[in-house]
Amino acid sequence: MKNELFDVTIIGGGPVGLFTAFYSGMREMKTKIIEYLPFLGGKVSYFYPEKIIRDIGGIAQLSGEKVTDNLIEQAMTFDPTIVLNEQVMGLKRLKDGTFELTSHNGAKHYTKTIILATGFGTLKSVKLDLPLADKYEEKSIHYAIKSLASYEGKKVLISGGGNSAIDWAHELESIAEEVTLIYRKDEFTGIESNITRLMNSSVEVLNPYKIVELKEEQDKLSTVVMEHVGTNARKEMEVDYLIVTHGFHINLGPIADWGMTMEEGTIQVDATMSTSIPGIYAVGDISNYPNKLGLIAGGFNEGPIAVNSAKQYIAPNEKLGHLFSTNYELFKR
Ligand SMILES: Cc1cc2nc3c(=O)[nH]c(=O)nc-3n(C[C@H](O)[C@H](O)[C@H](O)COP(=O)(O)OP(=O)(O)OC[C@H]3O[C@@H](n4cnc5c(N)ncnc54)[C@H](O)[C@@H]3O)c2cc1C
Repeated sequence: MKNELFDVTIIGGGPVGLFTAFYSGMREMKTKIIEYLPFLGGKVSYFYPEKIIRDIGGIAQLSGEKVTDNLIEQAMTFDPTIVLNEQVMGLKRLKDGTFELTSHNGAKHYTKTIILATGFGTLKSVKLDLPLADKYEEKSIHYAIKSLASYEGKKVLISGGGNSAIDWAHELESIAEEVTLIYRKDEFTGIESNITRLMNSSVEVLNPYKIVELKEEQDKLSTVVMEHVGTNARKEMEVDYLIVTHGFHINLGPIADWGMTMEEGTIQVDATMSTSIPGIYAVGDISNYPNKLGLIAGGFNEGPIAVNSAKQYIAPNEKLGHLFSTNYELFKR
């Protein structure tokens, strides 16, 4: 419907945006999600549908794909409006205090409040800056893992020292013929128990080493040349696949110029998830506050806080009630 006004517009349909939409529906807020990609699920769908997620309370272990399926089913409980394939760019405060959002294709959206759940913006990995890296991207150099089965019986080199790199090393240990993990620093930055497990695994760990050259043979990536950070001693390794997990570029696009207080590309929020612009909230990876955790489970708390703040912004004199979902008939359908 043209000019339809929503209570809450959530920008970003990743895990945190999806759960926020569910909670917003539960609070009887008229809700819309706008997502840039042609599908929902954010980083989980894009980078690791087959990875097992183990750190969401109450879910001992479940694949990224299943977590996403569950989140989408849950988000749809109260029939939010979903808009895919649109990158939100422009913001205008209208005379009545509501907002007009403009997407890259010129589409307009009207809303009383906005919850930014954009992750790091458009999902762009930090790429390997070496000759041949572009040529073999998607072929034998991967920045995301779509199918674990494709590494069966292969020689895999993983580059990176954070949780993603270590997680992939664990996932691939029993699938690939051989897994090697290379990191340019002395200390890994992942979760302690993951690092301990890594050191006791069959994964070969090479650090501090960095990749300095890629070699090809018969139009195929054949060898990775690594250099010791310190002695500069070189090592060569034959590989079938190179997985690179060097982090992400934070690229919010024009949203970064809306005037919110930012810190290193992320949006500063207070304990109510409010940004420095009244009526605009930020949750999930893009939000920043002291001791922020970039975890899905953390966002599952931030979303409801932002929704409650948005509700109070719209109706400041109404008291917030109904904080549990126990007795809703809707959940039985
Ligand atoms: C390899 C890997 C493994 C991980 N493993 C775990 C794990 O085991 N457990 C865990 O808790 N966390 C894990 N994480 C972190 C977790 O994925 C993130 O914390 C989580 O995805 C953040 O959710 P989000 O909804 O805030 O953002 P995202 O998942 O990044 O979703 C944001 C969405 O917003 C969209 N968007 C951005 N800008 C716009 C715009 N202007 N207009 C419209 N749409 C926009 C994007 O397209 C994207 O779909 C992992 C991350 C990686 C990369």
